[in-house]
Amino acid sequence: MNYDLVWSKVLENIKLSVTSLVYITWFENTKLYKIDANEATIIVPMEIHRKHLTDKYLQEIINCLYVVTNQTYDINFILEDEVSDNKDLSTTTVDNLPKQEESIEYHHISNLNKNYNFENFVVGNSNKLAHATALAVAESPGQTYNPLFIYGASGLGKTHLMHAIGNYIEKNYNKKVLYITSDQFIDDFSKLSRRDENKSNFDYADYFKNKYRSLDVLIIDDIQFLATTQKTQEEFFHTFNVLYNENKQIIISSDRSPTDLKSLEDRLKTRFCWGLTVDIYPPELELRKNILRKKIQASNLLPEIDDEVIEYIAANMASDVRKLEGAINRLMAESLTMGYDKITLPIAVEALKTMINKGTSEKTNILRVQKAVADHYKISVDDIKSKKKSAFIVAARQLSMYLSRDILNESFERIGLEFGGRDHSTVMYAYDKIKSEANENMELKNTIEKIKRSIL
Ligand code: ADP
Ligand code: MG
Repeated sequence: MNYDLVWSKVLENIKLSVTSLVYITWFENTKLYKIDANEATIIVPMEIHRKHLTDKYLQEIINCLYVVTNQTYDINFILEDEVSDNKDLSTTTVDNLPKQEESIEYHHISNLNKNYNFENFVVGNSNKLAHATALAVAESPGQTYNPLFIYGASGLGKTHLMHAIGNYIEKNYNKKVLYITSDQFIDDFSKLSRRDENKSNFDYADYFKNKYRSLDVLIIDDIQFLATTQKTQEEFFHTFNVLYNENKQIIISSDRSPTDLKSLEDRLKTRFCWGLTVDIYPPELELRKNILRKKIQASNLLPEIDDEVIEYIAANMASDVRKLEGAINRLMAESLTMGYDKITLPIAVEALKTMINKGTSEKTNILRVQKAVADHYKISVDDIKSKKKSAFIVAARQLSMYLSRDILNESFERIGLEFGGRDHSTVMYAYDKIKSEANENMELKNTIEKIKRSIL
């Protein structure tokens, strides 16, 4: 058993249930020293850690250790000095133990969020294809559409659907499902490369293979972020091939279609198109109302809500479901503090006034963004929509495209149309460019914030 690995898994679990301050203070500098028959010994930095962890977090540690090792251990805390009294730490970990396994055990955790299921996913025109294919895949994993590739702007239910598929398969077929974001994949992969360089005796490569290649279903969210390095893509490519060739189900999501994943290798894009590609659109009015009703029903903290409130929210918040949820949460917080027993239209209008801009219909929104950017740069909206190529105007145009996507969540196609009929790939390029520049350029970041404030 590799103690460092076991302990890092335990800490990952603990991290999920405590605040980061608690984690840093009490857990960060701990280490698993050894596991004997039924006792785990953990090294802590100071006496106060021993006391506090024993008093407050003992059960938590026992539980998390159980999740990782499948065994219940008593816990013994010791201080670093107490260890060196015994033995040199570096030589004890692996060699002095009864050799249970040569390589590392991999303890599977699916990462599925049980709250996302098919029952609470509301279906309408804009998502019915995505919903139907998701259900088909859930009903016969690996046999219908493989891979299933779901794409669309943020907040439209991609992640929800993917968890729903995973939960359904886990429940009905008892298969091994893993949900990860592409960030998590990159993270795992970079550990793999680091370990190799260090030539550690712990075979992380085996661990990595156990984790990914023994799966029945791999769900990978937001694949657009995978494009960071050639090597990660290469590893993903191999993982994909192994699973695909064994008829294991692969489900992928992205904010754009496979062909628009510019920085991804062609061979990956080709594979993503082998199965079925479905897109999910911003919800239409009827669906927005139905989603609101469902969310209200599901909440037992909300008082009665007038139907015209639902009409009002649905009519004024067009872009995505996450924002609809935000509105419901705001109403809930408001009625809890104010003690309303019924939410009427005037109450809702007041409570949501910072989230809903009166008088902005869906159609004028992009124009508002263009106008705000034009005002900032002291040019005209026509300049922004024109074909002029001076650097100054191009910069303003790209910024308006970025903001149209970022604030309004409009599709790249739609934004292209509102910018003098440009192709969606032009918009996508502008969006990515401004997004990455804003990470490094404080001035641009401030400009963005300033323009946003003038619009919202
Ligand atoms: P995405 O992954 O596309 O950005 P999410 O799946 O995270 O979007 O959805 C954002 C929020 O909206 C989630 O809380 C999700 O449950 C909810 N949601 C999205 N679409 C629906 C729907 N059709 N019915 C119910 N809830 C939905
Ligand atoms: Mg998502």
